[in-house]
Amino acid sequence: VRVLGIEGTAWAASAAVYDADRDDVVIESDAYQPESGGIHPREAAEHMHDAIPRVVERALEHARESHDGPATEPPIDAVAFSRGPGLGPCLRVVGTAARALSQALAVPLVGVNHMVAHLEIGRHTSGFDSPVCLNASGANAHLLAYRNGRYRVLGETMDTGVGNAIDKFTRHVGWSHPGGPKVEAAAEDGDYVSLPYVVKGMDFSFSGIMSAAKQAVDDGTPVEDVCYSLQENVFGMLTEVSERALSLTGSDELVLGGGVGQNARLREMLAEMCAQRGAEFHAPEPRFLRDNAGMIAVLGAKMYAAGDTLALEDSRVDPDFRPDQVPVSWRVDEPE
Ligand code: ATP
Repeated sequence: VRVLGIEGTAWAASAAVYDADRDDVVIESDAYQPESGGIHPREAAEHMHDAIPRVVERALEHARESHDGPATEPPIDAVAFSRGPGLGPCLRVVGTAARALSQALAVPLVGVNHMVAHLEIGRHTSGFDSPVCLNASGANAHLLAYRNGRYRVLGETMDTGVGNAIDKFTRHVGWSHPGGPKVEAAAEDGDYVSLPYVVKGMDFSFSGIMSAAKQAVDDGTPVEDVCYSLQENVFGMLTEVSERALSLTGSDELVLGGGVGQNARLREMLAEMCAQRGAEFHAPEPRFLRDNAGMIAVLGAKMYAAGDTLALEDSRVDPDFRPDQVPVSWRVDEPE
């Protein structure tokens, strides 16, 4: 089975082909880089419009080259696309491209939840059976675990996503988008200064800590110290709630998902916490952490194999698509 995946929820125009028989993924991506400030939804959608045909064509080229069936057969068995959550104008471009391709090649359409894809790629590459997942991405931050046919949200941000919070701070200090890698580099030379730490039960909040971080820089605290402390507190909060999620579910497996998961300090804290409680920790390689169509194609193949395809008339995109809205068709429930 081979599935073409198309991703385009925010900044990454991406297409991939996943060959399930060989467990092989080829990803073609084209990133939108804002000239100034953060991601502008209209500009990002224009980027999708421009780049999606290019990346899809390149991915299809790989599929054709490695296709050993008759030339009259389509080189893929299904088209999977990111249905949401994400920026509406971007999602609509991707949805239109996916529908057109599925019609032109006469193959089924699969609608993938982007957050569940961030989680499932970690489950796929780790081989873990039923992990807790920390999704630490740009626009989101939450802990998910599977129970009775759904991925349940155990804890989440009460305001912005974790990457977006960091990016807002770096815009304030005049650094270009994306801010996460710049904070990570600056933190290497920093010392700890006090910043808020906000965990409420299983939820967490970033807005207070980001305001305090901006204020600290304005008041003359070295930016390296603020970056270091920001990472310690924000990642400490995510690690605390991840530990509580492991404890509550009884799971001894944690996977990381999302672009902020590329951060070495976050991975170090999570790995240490897991080691201390005898749990296993897995972070997928960076190309699967940031937004990418590989994760859409891999989950798309599992959904396709389970018969979880979409009729054209039911395939509209959903900017607010939550992970717990997805009936998990591709996992077989074990009797309790
Ligand atoms: P979502 O998946 O929620 O739609 P998104 O589309 O913004 O989010 P991702 O690719 O998951 O995208 O994550 C992008 C975010 O990751 C940006 O906010 C960026 O600053 C952050 N990021 C990238 N590298 C690092 C790093 N090394 N440390 C911290 N944050 C990072």
